[in-house]
Amino acid sequence: MRNKKTIIISNRLPVRVERRDGDLHFIPSEGGLATGLGSIYQQEGNIWVGWPGFVPESEQEERLTREKLAELNLVPVFLTEEELQGYYEGFSNEVLWPIFHYRLSYAVYNTENWHVYQQVNKKFAEVINRQDPDEKDEVWIHDYQLMLLPQLVREDHPTIAIGYFQHIPFPPDEVFRCIPWRDELIKGLLGADLIAFHTYNDTQHFLNACTHLLGLPIQNNCLLVDGRSVYAEVYPMGIDFDKFSDLAKSTSIQQRAQEIKQYYRNRKFILCIDRLDYSKGIIERLQAYESLLQEHPELREQVVLYQLVVPSRDTVPQYRLLRDEIDRAVGHINSVYGVNEWQPIAYYYNSYPLEELSALYVAADICLVTSIRDGMNLVCKEYVASKVESNGVLVLSELAGASKELLEAIQVNPNSIDQIRQALKQAIEMPEHEQQRRMQDSIEIVRKFNVRHWVKIFFNRLHEIKTLQKQEM
Ligand code: UDP
Repeated sequence: MRNKKTIIISNRLPVRVERRDGDLHFIPSEGGLATGLGSIYQQEGNIWVGWPGFVPESEQEERLTREKLAELNLVPVFLTEEELQGYYEGFSNEVLWPIFHYRLSYAVYNTENWHVYQQVNKKFAEVINRQDPDEKDEVWIHDYQLMLLPQLVREDHPTIAIGYFQHIPFPPDEVFRCIPWRDELIKGLLGADLIAFHTYNDTQHFLNACTHLLGLPIQNNCLLVDGRSVYAEVYPMGIDFDKFSDLAKSTSIQQRAQEIKQYYRNRKFILCIDRLDYSKGIIERLQAYESLLQEHPELREQVVLYQLVVPSRDTVPQYRLLRDEIDRAVGHINSVYGVNEWQPIAYYYNSYPLEELSALYVAADICLVTSIRDGMNLVCKEYVASKVESNGVLVLSELAGASKELLEAIQVNPNSIDQIRQALKQAIEMPEHEQQRRMQDSIEIVRKFNVRHWVKIFFNRLHEIKTLQKQEM
């Protein structure tokens, strides 16, 4: 009898395949999920299933990719351009993303895209079936692109352990209700035994949707689905604390951080790092910064706001518009307030390697996160893990999941320009001893509840639930 097998599934594999000059390159991801789950899928017998990030042009490319990835315990799900358009761009990014981030007016409901989403979830299920799972194995499905997959796997494997984690928020049921296919989406999730979210509120919203829309019986956080107990629980995701902390301590990063600080003449350095997205509150933050410069002219030339925006989804019209809006806002502030010796905003539309991000975190006096809605926000945790001298101030949106853990951050309502401005003023003037006290508290939380801990407690609970279910039978 073979050992228990763990199958991880996400939209993207932790290795990206790129075609350059006719050759295929296999590039490992540095993301938190890849690190956290590394110790799991790399064990013999375990696998990770997902899209490899490219569309093969020939059978030979497909075979080569399959073979190369198999050496890394990875199994690709190949998708056509049409499938990617309908399932990822169309349904995931234009229905689920806006609705789950409370942006009702941004949703585009297209039945054809819904059908492609269903079809691609089935394709994932077929690939899982080809791995020949048996009832003692366990499956962990990640995120909103695969909401139908838990039930599809359940149909073929009635007692297998299935976990699902949602990395983005889950909206209140009256918002979720707007999606024409909401019942199918919830039924898809209910194939899992453990359905997990970053925050208590997201979990409650999901449970409310189950009872209000489907009328399911519920006791505390346990739903009864066809005689099977299904649990919805809170597991806030952590980061690889040691990676950020160790990097920040290294001589090369310390030197690079010094260079950055000197380049900006040791002015108060406010760091903002966001993927291009309307959920990040970039425009609101720029308005608040302008209002700070307006109301406190004495701070001009004393501060600099470093805004890194990572390109994302720029084929979607809202994202292109947002980019133009950011360009205009930055141009406006720099032209109105800037002088020969000083530009108030340093703006980059780019993606940086981990080392440069680390140096920015080390150099920053303040990290400013103003998400209008964010499942967790890992940037603020990475900043905290990089403050090895316990200095620096985090200003954090109360509408980001991380705000439920990082209680010593200065928390703001991101829709209030006044609150962000006041928080920035407070952060700029915060005495060293207060910075130390607050940051030490945050560091302790990010260190303890790191990504490995998150993986461990999730699996422990999944096993516990399977034991409970057996006792109920
Ligand atoms: N990041 C990156 N390259 C960059 C800037 C950011 O890889 O140039 C990473 C960053 O380290 C963080 C992630 O992107 O881990 C952003 O995660 P977050 O949860 O803050 O936001 P998301 O983009 O997932 O909404």
